[in-house]
Amino acid sequence: MSQKQDKATTERHSKTLRELLKRPENKVCSDCKRNDPRWASWNLGVFLCIRCSGIHRSMGTHISKVKSVDLDVWTVEQMNSIQKWGNKRANAYWEAHLKPGHIPPDQ
Ligand SMILES: [Zn+2]
Repeated sequence: MSQKQDKATTERHSKTLRELLKRPENKVCSDCKRNDPRWASWNLGVFLCIRCSGIHRSMGTHISKVKSVDLDVWTVEQMNSIQKWGNKRANAYWEAHLKPGHIPPDQ
């Protein structure tokens, strides 16, 4: 499907991801606001804990495309998407589009 990515690019991407995770808005899981996010949905542009990443996976890849920050190889396209969004902007977007009175599930 796609060409194999060279090692230098992959390493640069993982360094960028580690730096993204140091930002205050990305230090907690986008969904449960807890834990240490080591996973991300690159199409939604959010960082997730392992538990919430499982929930995102179960929604299907047409909704959420989940990858491990530590274990997976990130492509240029995926990096562009996660950098464009990030937890803060993605949350603002999704919360703005929720119905009035909707309370996001706590757990
Ligand atoms: Zn979570």
